[in-house]
Amino acid sequence: MKRGKIRCYRGYAHAFGRWNIEVFYTMPDGHHMKLFTCIECGAILFMDMDNPALARQTVQETVGDEVCPECGRLLRNSLREYPENFLTEDGRIGHFDPGRHYPPDSESLFKEIWQLP
Ligand SMILES: [Zn+2]
Repeated sequence: MKRGKIRCYRGYAHAFGRWNIEVFYTMPDGHHMKLFTCIECGAILFMDMDNPALARQTVQETVGDEVCPECGRLLRNSLREYPENFLTEDGRIGHFDPGRHYPPDSESLFKEIWQLP
């Protein structure tokens, strides 16, 4: 699986008594790149939601038989929306709501992550 660079924003989640857990999220500006995570290992991946295949099939179907580049599990089973769901250090699943307000551009960063088909 290849990697691609996308623009995202940094957020801080809290889960299970821990604060300031760093997460990342995207905003639907221009190209809509959506983040996902492998809930088994915490790998972060993205999909280009402008992919015309998504008009007729689900994300899981689009992923097909691809496996996680970091743990080898079938992504159609382990893929979850991120950072709505994220794997914490102790193996539990935390949740983060990025909200709907655009953060200032100064808070954006480019991140190189795995690119889903
Ligand atoms: Zn994985």
